[in-house]
Formats: sequence, structure tokens, C-alpha cells
Amino acid sequence: MAKLVYNTEVRKRGYDWYNADEYSERLNIWDLERSDLSKRVKAGVLKRMKEDYAENFLLAPIDPSITAQRTIKPMDTNAWVSFYRVAEKTKVGTDKPLPDDEIRAELLKFFKQHGIGVGHSIDFKYMRESLVMINDLYLARDEKNMEEVYRILKGSRMENTNFDFNHIERFYFDIKAKLSLTDEGELNMVIEVVSFFDFILYDFLFSKGVLQRWFICKHCEQDFQSSRKKDYCSIRCKRRTAYERQLSKTIGKKLTKEQKAKISEAATRRKK
Ligand SMILES: [Zn+2]
Repeated sequence: MAKLVYNTEVRKRGYDWYNADEYSERLNIWDLERSDLSKRVKAGVLKRMKEDYAENFLLAPIDPSITAQRTIKPMDTNAWVSFYRVAEKTKVGTDKPLPDDEIRAELLKFFKQHGIGVGHSIDFKYMRESLVMINDLYLARDEKNMEEVYRILKGSRMENTNFDFNHIERFYFDIKAKLSLTDEGELNMVIEVVSFFDFILYDFLFSKGVLQRWFICKHCEQDFQSSRKKDYCSIRCKRRTAYERQLSKTIGKKLTKEQKAKISEAATRRKK
């Protein structure tokens, strides 16, 4: 089973909010893929950015240079919990939220700890909406009101995400699959979520059983789904493992595959 991740970089000096002009300057240094773009293209991008993000702020590294101290890593599972804490602390879900500059400061702390995707534009207005949304989702789920959870997920607030609800009952994440070769010479596939809030939603939905996660059974090695972490797909596999462990203790060494197969065959016959 391929793992679903959101890759981030965590900069020691952290991030700050910038207007479109300042952001664009930083982005040209930060995102190396942009260095190939012509001046004309860059100017065009900036013009559109100024229109899209007028009176808004965008998140970028304080020091965007390639030599700045940074760590590349997938965003932690359960990052949604700290994102929800920001919502709680800034009271965005109430009629007395903290002022925007204080919300921005709390978000900076979050991103300094969890990092952001290289060159991914994260703007304040959208992050503020995202905080309200994770707050509402959390409360609805806490009340076990799944209809409300579904209604929020399908709500108009989601227009800006990569979630696609247009006229369809199902929704999708934007993801991309990446193949790589490991040091052991094996092919490895990672599936990447391409935006920050998609990852937060995905992370939230798969935690505590709104959606079920996939696991691999330690005994029969089959994929199975469960709402919480489990080692075995069934009680049968769990018992079989315990039985084999007991048996190998008696014999004094690990059982071979053939021995295991024989035991399992015998057990099936006994059942009949
Ligand atoms: Zn199993």
C-alpha cells in the first residue's frame, strides 16, 4: 500500500506573511523551478497575483535562499490536531475572534513547527476560512453528527480548495504519485497530496474513524481496513500468530514457512 504524504520544508528562521510584491520576490529565490521562467512570464504571474491577493497576505520563508538551514520532511500525521488548536485559541469559530494580526501570529507558530510545501502559495484569508472549517468539522464530529460533517465538506466554503464537489456526490483530492529507487535498489511509490489544507482534511478524516485506514495484516499479509490501528485482520490471524509463537518456543526455533503452512492446514481440517 503506497503511503499518502504532504512534503514540507521546515526552515529554522521560520516564515512570515508578505504582500504579493514581497512574496513574488521571495518565491523567485525559494522555488528553484521558477528560475527558468522568463522575465515576461514572471511579470505576468506577479500581475495576476496582485489581483488575486489584493489586501491579502501570503506565506513565505523569512530567508528563502537555498543555503538557509532547513529540513525536508513529510508533514506529521495528526498535524490537523495542532491546526485545530490554532482555531480554538484564536476563537475563529465564535463571534469574538482575536484580531487578524494575532491570528496570523498563531499561524506562523504552526507553520514554523510543521513547515510548508516549497513554493505552495498559502494565503491568510484562505487559512482563516480553513481554521473556521476545521473548527466546525471537529465540533460536528465530536457530536457524532456525520450529516453535518458531510454538509460542511460539501459547503461553498470549499470553493478554493482542490476538493472538487461540482455537481457530483463524491469529492476528490488532488494527489500525485511519485516513483523512486531506494538505496536497496527497490522501487518505491509515494502518493503526495498537493496542497496543505487537502492534507489537513485528509489527516482529519482518517483519524478517529470518519474514514477507515488501510493496514497490512502481520499474519496473512492481506490489506484490510480499520478505523484504528490494528496488527491483525481478524481474531483468527491473531490466534494463529499466538499459536505459532507458542509452538516455536516449544521447538526452540523459528518455524519455517512450510511448517507454518502445515499447521494452518491441520487447523483448517480440525475446524471441518
Ligand atoms: Zn490476516
